[in-house]
Amino acid sequence: MNIDYVVFNRREEEAGSPPPLPRKHTRRIRSFPVLTTKEIESIIRKNCGSIEAAECHGKGKNRVYILPEAFNEYKTMVSYGRRSPVNCREQKYIGLGHIFSDGFGGTHIVVVHFIEIPTMNRSSVSAGNLGPNGEANPGLDFLEYYRNEFIEHESSYNTDAFGAVVDPFQEYGASEFVLEGHTHPDLGAFWSGTDRESGAARAAKVPICIFVCDPVRQEMLGAIGKNFEQAKVILFDRINTEEKMSLTDKIVKLTNDCIRLHGLSGNVKSYEGWDGKVRIRINLIVPKDARGSGM
Ligand SMILES: [Zn+2]
Repeated sequence: MNIDYVVFNRREEEAGSPPPLPRKHTRRIRSFPVLTTKEIESIIRKNCGSIEAAECHGKGKNRVYILPEAFNEYKTMVSYGRRSPVNCREQKYIGLGHIFSDGFGGTHIVVVHFIEIPTMNRSSVSAGNLGPNGEANPGLDFLEYYRNEFIEHESSYNTDAFGAVVDPFQEYGASEFVLEGHTHPDLGAFWSGTDRESGAARAAKVPICIFVCDPVRQEMLGAIGKNFEQAKVILFDRINTEEKMSLTDKIVKLTNDCIRLHGLSGNVKSYEGWDGKVRIRINLIVPKDARGSGM
């Protein structure tokens, strides 16, 4: 069963639209807005706040950009970096976002949101979209529901918790299905025969990204379109401001945290003296009855 068929063709059926004419004669090749990697990266850096390209996987002229909000969703969804009860069996998911052309036959994909596909009959090497006897899986209805809900509200809530833009590409239209992925828990990231077969079918009409990730080993592999063209996957993350702090700033922050956590008052300041050396001054106010209490 084809997820994109289930999710994306059902609405047409429900709307009672007439059966499509033979595709060979009526299908127009869809064109995508043209943006170079430079343009995409500059739009991301300009709008998505204090971020960095935290991880890169693979190579190729095609790119798959995972925006910071989506990367954080992803890390939680697959317990990225450890074994967990959630990721010990194969997980499937879709990515919503935008597709761009590089103007030279290449494709760049931007992922703004992930939704896990509720699958059944899972093992570490498989996960079924259908029930044990091939019956319908109500999970696919939820997938469609969550996807529609996201698309309906994405433009109303496009600011993240840090005041930055979640998806700076909304002017190019609503998000759509741009990635289909699954996990290989502690098996490594590679294409199995089944992956190639199902991926080619999924990307037959639109050059979406076929994606596989080993969440435990933190390996990723992305390909574009039915011919599995190689792609470089770039994941953006927020810069951990604490990591970028200088040693003195860190000491000042830790000491201040320590004072607050113990319910004391006072402050810590660092300053550079005339000799160029940095000094740290702690002004700590300890109440009489707290002295010697070991707090
Ligand atoms: Zn696989």
